[in-house]
Amino acid sequence: MDLLTALVDKGLRRELPTRDEALAVLATSDDELLDVVAAAGRVRRTWFGRRVKLNYLVNLKSGLCPEDCSYCSQRLGSQAGILKYTWLGPEEAAAAASAGVAGGAKRVCLVASGRGPTDRDVDRVSETIAAIKGRHEDVEVCACLGLLAGGQADRLKAAGADAYNHNLNTSEGTYGSITTTHTYADRVDTVQRAQAAGLSACSGLIAGMGESDADLVDVVFGLRELDPDSVPVNFLIPFEGTPLAKEWNLTPQRCLRILAMVRFVCPDVEVRLAGGREVHLRTMQPLALHLVNSIFLGDYLTSEGQAGQADLDMIADAGFEVEGAETPTLPAHRAAGLCGAHDGGCGSCGDTACAGAHGHGKTASAPAPPAVPAARTDLVAVRRRGAGTDLPPNA
Ligand code: SF4
Repeated sequence: MDLLTALVDKGLRRELPTRDEALAVLATSDDELLDVVAAAGRVRRTWFGRRVKLNYLVNLKSGLCPEDCSYCSQRLGSQAGILKYTWLGPEEAAAAASAGVAGGAKRVCLVASGRGPTDRDVDRVSETIAAIKGRHEDVEVCACLGLLAGGQADRLKAAGADAYNHNLNTSEGTYGSITTTHTYADRVDTVQRAQAAGLSACSGLIAGMGESDADLVDVVFGLRELDPDSVPVNFLIPFEGTPLAKEWNLTPQRCLRILAMVRFVCPDVEVRLAGGREVHLRTMQPLALHLVNSIFLGDYLTSEGQAGQADLDMIADAGFEVEGAETPTLPAHRAAGLCGAHDGGCGSCGDTACAGAHGHGKTASAPAPPAVPAARTDLVAVRRRGAGTDLPPNA
């Protein structure tokens, strides 16, 4: 398949595919799917071997957000029956983090609902980072606190944060239909503030919100231009009580195509399979490990994932290995900061490949119209354990 040969070659050279090539991956047929996974898997193995990095979410503050992100169960006016609580204390958060580290996580993601932190919130999170690093010196800590104001990224860096997450979520063109209380540009600004402070930037997307293939390609190309070190790919969990509750648009095959496209566009970046994998990939989750090199262990912010032990069993059964704390996640050129905007690596968006006019297009017959996926509301479980409850966390 000419398309896949070209994409593997580009992935091994860290060269940006054309937009047409990225669109063609999303348009492949089910008959071609295993070839697509195998091709993107070659790129994944070149840069990350068979390692899977485990990340662990700690929801520091849940619900009651003033923002109106349509996909979010914590949004303004959400009727989803999620846990709602204010800031966990540093020791409580560190105890939750320890459960994830004991399960094999090398990164802890500290997340708080809200538009962005106050300076007092940054103090709280700084104390929490100290409590976690006091228990686990080598663990990576990523903060995810919303839009950052001037100086806050520097303060988080000084407090010991390693990374900052702020997702672009969807394309610039459709952002206003998903959220009205802040803009795509606001999100880009926060990612750039994190990068300027020396934090490892983590920024990703949510698929399944009714977007077009072109929107998906737009947001992934937007991410490549921003050049984060990690790209979480979420699949919408259509929570009852949110505006997108009826958006059941994804099949396992569609999810795999999206992950393959992200891998081809961001070949040497930590691509993380994030929320919604159990709901939408279901029994096809192990195939996704050939595309991503990172997953969340255990539960998500407001929903329950499969048991942490099931995550570990899946990784072992599929022939992958959990990445140890002593092993660098990123390839050497990227870890050394050699992957900037002018070396032809990820983030280089100034070359002619960006024009998108020379794609190889589809090479096989047109796919059948996609089947309408069944709404699997039975697979959506609101989190009732771990942080903010008296029950032990899932790790
Ligand atoms: S995504 Fe973040 S900012 Fe948006 S509603 Fe949810 S918690 Fe608030």
